[in-house]
Amino acid sequence: MIIIDAHIHFSRIASFKDAASHGSGCDYSLAGLQTEITRNHVSVVVGMGLQESLPYAFPDAAAPNPMGLDLSDSWPEELYSCPGINPYNLTKESLDGIEKALQFPRTVGIKLYTGYYPFYVTDPVYEPVYDLAARYKLPVLIHSGDTFSDRALIKYAHPLTVDELAVRHRRNTFVITHMGDPWIRDAGQIIRKNANVWTDVAGLLVGSRRYFEESANEPLILNEFRYALISAASWDKILFGSDWPLAPMDVYRDFVSKIVPDKHLENVLGKNALNLFGRISIR
Ligand SMILES: [Zn+2]
Repeated sequence: MIIIDAHIHFSRIASFKDAASHGSGCDYSLAGLQTEITRNHVSVVVGMGLQESLPYAFPDAAAPNPMGLDLSDSWPEELYSCPGINPYNLTKESLDGIEKALQFPRTVGIKLYTGYYPFYVTDPVYEPVYDLAARYKLPVLIHSGDTFSDRALIKYAHPLTVDELAVRHRRNTFVITHMGDPWIRDAGQIIRKNANVWTDVAGLLVGSRRYFEESANEPLILNEFRYALISAASWDKILFGSDWPLAPMDVYRDFVSKIVPDKHLENVLGKNALNLFGRISIR
């Protein structure tokens, strides 16, 4: 089975390093990522571009544009990227830099950090980014739902906001990341209604192996996710992502295989991502 982890992190973000060392127990480094990829037979991982100008500045208005994957200078050959957008700095010059990043063969999408940055997805500031994404036929991945920072404003990250965006931008494809958790049923409805909206199931739970042993076996929690996925009725538009290093990859894949019915698992774990990310090819 082809496994594509469509949502990981590979950026020097102080709070992610802390979450890895004190929470998930992941080795958040180049070597740590390589070990995870090999051990779990993962064909491709897609990193969400993100940077901070100073430790603990994330979400950072002074971050560069686009934001990249700067955890190490070298990348595993399985790593692809979605450059991140800082909406405070969308000048003509930075848009040129973003366009250049989109031409890099390993760029497979663009990532917005709504909620972390207090702009709705329908804010005109993002229009040039949607134009670029449509021109390069790349999906726009949108942070949605709860945030990993108490300085974020989650009203901007509600998945319902993606409905209007999808209707207004038919030429674009959007991905509601984290299925808008905790508004997963709302996100499910947006995906079901709009052919150009997908979702990933990254970060629904985050933590250590031990935490997953407890929480990922709790029927109330599992059934909530199962219900949202089934009612979305869009098994060809749901992507596996682990949100590594916030959770170990194998533990997260086991959790996803509990909430996705067996007959759809092959699509969710890899095939759907191959369909969405046209630039990914597996030898
Ligand atoms: Zn993430």
